[in-house]
Amino acid sequence: MEDINDNLLKIEERIKVAAKRSGRDLSEIKLLPISKYHSLDKIQVVLDKGYVEFGESRVQELMEKDEEFSSDVEWHMIGHLQRNKVKYLARMTRCKLIHSVDSLRLAKEINKRAKQEERVMDILIQINTAQDDNKFGIYTKEAIEMVKKIGSFKNVKIRGLMTIAPYSDDPEEVRPAFRKLRKLAEKIEAEEIEGVEMKELSMGMSNDLEVAIEEGATILRVGSAIFGEREYN
Ligand SMILES: *Cc1c(COP(=O)(O)O)cnc(C)c1O
Repeated sequence: MEDINDNLLKIEERIKVAAKRSGRDLSEIKLLPISKYHSLDKIQVVLDKGYVEFGESRVQELMEKDEEFSSDVEWHMIGHLQRNKVKYLARMTRCKLIHSVDSLRLAKEINKRAKQEERVMDILIQINTAQDDNKFGIYTKEAIEMVKKIGSFKNVKIRGLMTIAPYSDDPEEVRPAFRKLRKLAEKIEAEEIEGVEMKELSMGMSNDLEVAIEEGATILRVGSAIFGEREYN
C-alpha cells in the first residue's frame, strides 16, 4: 500500500512535467485511476488521496465494487459494453461517464435505458484510431455521421472522444493515434452539432501519458502505474 502512495506521487509528477512542457494547464487534465482487477483495499488508498473517480472495464465488477463504498465514489465505464448490460449502468447513479460507446445500437440502448431512469448519461465515442478490424471503436471516417445521429438522442450527452492506442514500448509510436483523435475532435467541433461537446479526450495510459498530454488528453486512464500488476484470479 505504501507503493500506491509512491506511485501516485510519481504519476502526478510525470503529469506536471509533461503539462508544463506542453504549455497546458494542469486543471484541464484528469488522472483517472483504472481499478479493474484491483482490490477494494487498494482503491481505498487512492480514495484517501482525494481521487473519487475510478475506471472499470466490466459491468459486473463495477457493480460489485460500487456496493462496497458508501463515500462519494464515481465510476467510469472504460471497457467494451454489451447492450444487455446497459440497464445496470443506467440504474447506477454513480456511473459518471461511459467511455466506450462504439456503435449506434449501443448508444440507442443507453438512450433508452437512461430515459427509463429519467436521466441523461454522459458518454464518449470510442474511436478506432488504429483502423484495425480487430479493435473496438468507430472508424474516423464514420465518426461525424455517427456523432450527428447520437447527438440527436435526448438522454445521452456526448462529451468527447476516447481511443485506445496500439500497445507499444515506444511512446512515440502511439503519438499518431492520439493526434488523430485530437484532429477528429477539432473537426467534429467545427461542425457545431447541437448538444454535442468535444471537451474530453480520453487517451493515454501508464506507458504513454506524456505523449497523450502533449497531444491534448484531458482524461488519462492509468492502471498499473498506480496499482501495480493486475491481480487476475
Ligand atoms: C486497463 C485499461 C487501462 C489502464 O491500462 P494501464 O496500462 O494499466 O495503465 C486504460 N484504458 C483501458 C481502456 C483499459 O482497459
